[in-house]
Amino acid sequence: KAKTTGRNKAEPFEPAMHATAVKRFDLEADLRRAIAKGGELELFYQPIIDIQNDRMHGYEALLRWRHPTRGLVSPIDFIPLAEDTGLIVEIGRRCILEAARQIAAWTPPGGGMPPQVAVNVSGRQFAAEGLLDDIENALRITEIPPGSLKLEVTESLVMDNPERTVDLLKRIMAIGCKVSIDDFGTGYSSLSHLHRFPFNTLKIDRSFIVRMADSREGFEIVRVIASMAKVLERDVVAEGVEEQNQVTALRDMGVEFVQGYVFSKPLPAAEATAFLEKWRQKERDRGAGVAAS
Ligand code: C2E
Ligand code: MG
Ligand code: MG
Ligand code: MG
Repeated sequence: KAKTTGRNKAEPFEPAMHATAVKRFDLEADLRRAIAKGGELELFYQPIIDIQNDRMHGYEALLRWRHPTRGLVSPIDFIPLAEDTGLIVEIGRRCILEAARQIAAWTPPGGGMPPQVAVNVSGRQFAAEGLLDDIENALRITEIPPGSLKLEVTESLVMDNPERTVDLLKRIMAIGCKVSIDDFGTGYSSLSHLHRFPFNTLKIDRSFIVRMADSREGFEIVRVIASMAKVLERDVVAEGVEEQNQVTALRDMGVEFVQGYVFSKPLPAAEATAFLEKWRQKERDRGAGVAAS
């Protein structure tokens, strides 16, 4: 099969590389088709709970692809492809609008604040022109309060191009939208520069939450990140919290918000609506209880 003996060494890799390329090409064609057709890409919503006040705070919107034959495809498997091909720009635009529509649907009739929903924004989307227009369009169409829409950018994206990032984040916040720094701790932020970045919330990466129970150091690192955020007057969300004892430890160190399987996995919109209703009812009951006593 090898054309020359000199290429023998590379031969075992060729079929695998070919297979990978074909698979990737198939997936890309499928993704293009899915975007054109609509209906296969769907936002799930994972609750974020205020553990200091035992209240429902909001959701993170997480993309899922209901592929007709492959089943539910994880964003880990198609977001990188969408990034490389530039398809993420169109996908991201739709996510922002879809999340805004969902926020509008979750706005209590007769006023009251809807839950805050955070949408992930990837590097390519952030670098492209038009992100600000997409956000403004979504706000105009749905008439949601800007503060209910949050944009999540990763720490590494922020550090890739600090000047441009600062400028864009400032403009996003000038509209009234909120900003989270995602996966905090996995990048290489210079702590001395962090205070110059415009953002509202620091999301401590799950890997740190996992290591909290391993050692005193693991525990202290989370505490130090949380108190640093407090000094900078930023909120903290602990990501990937799976156990009640982690919730207790985080509450004791003053962390406000928790996202993770301990409360819920990401839910399809209808189930997220039911989850929200349940919490709102619980909060109303508690309010009524206080008033009656
Ligand atoms: P992320 O933004 O850091 O999202 C958190 C991930 O952790 C989600 O994975 C979520 O399902 C998972 N997770 C939450 N709680 C727990 C827990 O208690 N235990 C464990 N083991 N995992 C937990 P998911 O939904 O698979 O998304 C993976 C990544 O894909 C996201 O990481 C984000 O970077 C990206 N992504 C998802 N949706 C979008 C999107 O609409 N646009 C862009 N650009 N990226 C997205
Ligand atoms: Mg995120
Ligand atoms: Mg995250
Ligand atoms: Mg992550």
